[in-house]
Amino acid sequence: MGNPHQVAYLYTMTPRPYILAETNWQSVQQTQYEVAVLPWGATEAHNYHLPYSTDVAQCDYVAAASAEKAWAQGAKVIVLPTVPFGVNTGQMDIPLCINMNPSTQLAVLKDVTRSLSGQGIHKLVVMNGHGGNDFKQMIREVQLHFPDMFLCTLHWYRAIDWNQYFDEPGDHAGEMETSAMMHIAPQLVLPLSEAGEGKSRPFRLKGIQEGWVWAQRAWSKATHDTGVGNPAKATAEKGRLYLEDTAQKIAGFLVALAHTPIQDLYEPD
Ligand SMILES: [Zn+2]
Repeated sequence: MGNPHQVAYLYTMTPRPYILAETNWQSVQQTQYEVAVLPWGATEAHNYHLPYSTDVAQCDYVAAASAEKAWAQGAKVIVLPTVPFGVNTGQMDIPLCINMNPSTQLAVLKDVTRSLSGQGIHKLVVMNGHGGNDFKQMIREVQLHFPDMFLCTLHWYRAIDWNQYFDEPGDHAGEMETSAMMHIAPQLVLPLSEAGEGKSRPFRLKGIQEGWVWAQRAWSKATHDTGVGNPAKATAEKGRLYLEDTAQKIAGFLVALAHTPIQDLYEPD
């Protein structure tokens, strides 16, 4: 506790005007918000040692930390409540991995966009925190219905090169996610001695190994402990540094987006 970017769903002592879950009509009525951020996580197993909320907590944290920095630079940003369910179609045999199909996500995104579009908030950033989510094609479709809106998406964990911060970042519940959670919510992280090694089995098909063919992994066949990546070298300090620089970078984008009129998004000739 006492973390300055406490995950939004746990709330803080003082309402932050850029976190919708904490703010109120009195404050919203007086603020002309420019950019809405919709963090989108997942509810799934993360090796033996990280909570099911890992993707939600990280996305929540990065959205709040980025918005705080952007707000301090004068950008009127509002972080919407984090959507807790992601696409987990490859994990249906793992208890309490909760799947939300892409078609359901599309419907949710359309409804959120529809709400904002009528309220004068014309820029929406979908901040993704889960590898199985992919909002690109959905944005193409939603954009068709709401030409007054500018929609974009980012994977928060791709904002900066994580190889500068971690020896073996890992794909899922590895060194990066474990370090991040040790910083964000250490009380929810079991000792590393409880964690599996996060060893995964690649597909036998060479095309998929080489990365030019894609197929969904059956998670229980591809992993031993649901993790992909060894968390052994994770530390809270690595997590802190990585998240700080990530929030800084994303804040820069939010500020630029807030200050750029929708009619003026392209470089002049
Ligand atoms: Zn994750």
